[in-house]
Amino acid sequence: MHYFKTVIYGLLLTWVSGQVMAVETDFESILDELKVSLIAEPSKSSELIQYLKDNVRYLTQEQQARFLTLESNKELYNGMYDKAYHLLVSAEKLSHSASLLNSIHLYQATSLIALRNYQGALEAMSKNLSRIEEIDDVTIKMTSYLRLANLYLDLEVFEEVKRYASLALELSRGISTKEQCYAKLLLSASALKLAHYQESEQSFSKTKSYCSEHNIPLIVAMSDKGLGDSALKLGKFDTAKNHLLSALNQYQKFQFQLELNDVNSLLAETYLSLSDLDNAINYAQMVISLPNDISHFEAKKRATKVMAVVLEKRGDFEQAYNYLGDYLKLSDSLIDETKAKAYAYQMAKFENAEKTREIKMLNQDRALYTAQQKVVELERYNESLALMILLGCSVGFVIFGMTMFIQQRKYKRISQLDQLTGILNRGTGQDFAENLFIDVLAHRGVFSVIMFDLDYFKTINDTLGHSAGDWALKRVVEAVNPLLKSRDLFVRMGGEEFAIFLPYISAEEALHLAEKCRVAIDNISTRPHYSELSITASFGVCTSLDNDLSLDPMMKRVDAAMYQAKRSGRNCVVEYQGDMVTSEAC
Ligand code: GH3
Ligand code: MG
Ligand code: MG
Repeated sequence: MHYFKTVIYGLLLTWVSGQVMAVETDFESILDELKVSLIAEPSKSSELIQYLKDNVRYLTQEQQARFLTLESNKELYNGMYDKAYHLLVSAEKLSHSASLLNSIHLYQATSLIALRNYQGALEAMSKNLSRIEEIDDVTIKMTSYLRLANLYLDLEVFEEVKRYASLALELSRGISTKEQCYAKLLLSASALKLAHYQESEQSFSKTKSYCSEHNIPLIVAMSDKGLGDSALKLGKFDTAKNHLLSALNQYQKFQFQLELNDVNSLLAETYLSLSDLDNAINYAQMVISLPNDISHFEAKKRATKVMAVVLEKRGDFEQAYNYLGDYLKLSDSLIDETKAKAYAYQMAKFENAEKTREIKMLNQDRALYTAQQKVVELERYNESLALMILLGCSVGFVIFGMTMFIQQRKYKRISQLDQLTGILNRGTGQDFAENLFIDVLAHRGVFSVIMFDLDYFKTINDTLGHSAGDWALKRVVEAVNPLLKSRDLFVRMGGEEFAIFLPYISAEEALHLAEKCRVAIDNISTRPHYSELSITASFGVCTSLDNDLSLDPMMKRVDAAMYQAKRSGRNCVVEYQGDMVTSEAC
């Protein structure tokens, strides 16, 4: 039937265009063309979408599903997540193709994450994950891994981004340049987010040349943004400016609004670092004037900070203070976001395990369905028995729901903490600390940071085994914890590196505390388990300066001080000095 319609339509078209030629309209190729143009030629994609919309009745059901999916991609690029999601729901209903359903679910997850519906995103991811291992088709597997990497990027779980992007990179080698290009971009982005800036700079640069060679301009633009961001973090402001302006120029062609906002905020920061205050204000204002939507918060946070610094430099302290207040509010909301994301991640991780509760729940769903089917059958000759079965099932379901709820709460709590030591992990800890710092700043208080790293920890692992290393990490936390006040934040920054954030603590008090911690660690009793083990740590200490408006500069200073402590022979405390002279004997 569809075939005939298509042929007739083809004939009509050719008739209208004045050519007497019975050409069948090949919608499949038009859809392929649309797919390519979405990435390479956005203006053409709008025309194709319109054309397909006008002719949607001639498309097969599967083609319609594919069209809706591609149309949703365009909406995603435009930041219209709600629209995108609804298109995908319609597409899901139409499609029976395993591969298309696979990507529909992943795109649904993407839009739901953007809409902050993490629970919904999770369900979509689980629908995808439950199928992914059964799929033999390399292409589908590869794209699934890529989409998962992308989702984890949104969920701020950068280790997972790396994992899935690497899997996709492996699978796509020699098969698909587009997927290679995406995987490379995602790996670069994970390096940037993990604060490995040298690595991210190199990686973005390789991604950029690879993707421009294979004509994927959107990724080229994204690589330029990544290069700019990395250069900014590395203090190479002129390079940053050039890359960001180039990214801006490219994104304008795509009208990729979210990315444009992000680049504008990065440019504001760059111009501030270059002391070009007028440009810094211009770019910051463009971001600040955006509607108050959460998808703009990250960019707005950056822009309000820039405004605060610029106005402070110009002596307008009252306005600077107001912007600082806005910054604080934005940080607060973003912390809630991070928490929600951490929670979703734990759930996703939870889903990811092969025997997940979610899958069980789906099975239960199925069981319930089967039971209900049975009920229908049984009803025919035994009503009371049917009722019992039905009741039995619902009770079971309620109990199951409750366990899920308790489990979710547990995971939510755990996700903010470091699993080994039970103190705050880096992601949450640094966010809390940033907020605490701004709070102290708003009250014109003083703020100190202690950072320490265990000495020769690799040797402990190498000689006594990883479990000895883990044991030592737990003892260190136990030794330091009692020395802290409840308002202090103790954070495991990663590996064997820790930070203590100290509100309203002066340099002198912080130094004193660091020394107490050093002694406490040195005195950890390693008997009887690891008698030959000696645990020590090197400490850096620094205190806020008048022109510190965020934790970033303090983190750099405290890191430098800690590095100096390492160089001075370890097991000592060093206070940051402009010229890095050690303040205490080692
Ligand atoms: P330095 O005194 O210069 O800090 O030397 P180091 O050996 O402590 O530093 P390095 O960075 O070379 O080694 C850190 C080691 O910490 C490497 C890594 O295997 C180990 N590590 C990181 N996280 C954990 C963990 O959770 N458990 C254990 N057991 N080891 C860890
Ligand atoms: Mg170490
Ligand atoms: Mg270390």
